[in-house]
Amino acid sequence: MLVVRSAETYYGNIQALKGVSLHVNEGEIVALIGANGAGKTTTLRTISGMLAPRRGEIAFGGRSIVGLPPEAIVRAGISQVPEGRRLFTTLSVRDNLLLGAYHLSWREKRARVRGDLERICSLFPVLRERADQVSGTLSGGEQQMLAIGRALMSRPRLLLLDEPSLGLAPRAARTIFDAIPRFRGQGLTVLLVEQNARAALQIADRAYVLETGRAVMEGSAQELLSQREVQRAYLGRGYRQVWEDE
Ligand code: ATP
Repeated sequence: MLVVRSAETYYGNIQALKGVSLHVNEGEIVALIGANGAGKTTTLRTISGMLAPRRGEIAFGGRSIVGLPPEAIVRAGISQVPEGRRLFTTLSVRDNLLLGAYHLSWREKRARVRGDLERICSLFPVLRERADQVSGTLSGGEQQMLAIGRALMSRPRLLLLDEPSLGLAPRAARTIFDAIPRFRGQGLTVLLVEQNARAALQIADRAYVLETGRAVMEGSAQELLSQREVQRAYLGRGYRQVWEDE
């Protein structure tokens, strides 16, 4: 579904990606793990068109998406949930969700927005209960659900999730990690960046380890979980253990 080949991305003169290659098959949950500054967020931004790679190729569904503006990439079926959620905090939950469908024509909105809101609220019922609440007053976990819900409003086929558990209490992180595998039932494929590598590997099918701008390891999530090198460098306590200790 998604193929990234030797992507090189810069911030000015600083080369953040030094030839990242990875692929994601339809229906998979793929995790990107690695230390701070390894290039995980930059990889997602390069795929979603927020950053343009200077070299390399990115194909989605067999078509190159390099050089397309971010809104065209959303239309093609890729939606990113950014790190830190980036909600419109003075707007209501409902309005934040509606903004996820901003790129649709009036006719398209009329045909599908109501049904899509319903579908997303059944995935995260708290969003229905809080529909009129100002989103800045939601808890961290609820804000993350809203950020995911907003991304789902564009009906993506591939969801890019950047650090969904960042800053969340263990219980809220658990709700998010438990929800991600359920997206599969909605026909979604997920590329997940997570600081909590163990939790990511517990829900992923496959994973890549990024180190200083390159993918240095690839394997099934189970394989990586059992590798000494990965355990030593990246695996703290997983989210299941954290809440079992609570
Ligand atoms: P983290 O988990 O800390 O977010 P990451 O793996 O997502 O790390 P990136 O945020 O992709 O890493 O950063 C990769 C490299 O690019 C780092 O060296 C970082 O300092 C640099 N970088 C990121 N954003 C910018 C920016 N806006 N301007 C300049 N350099 C940047």
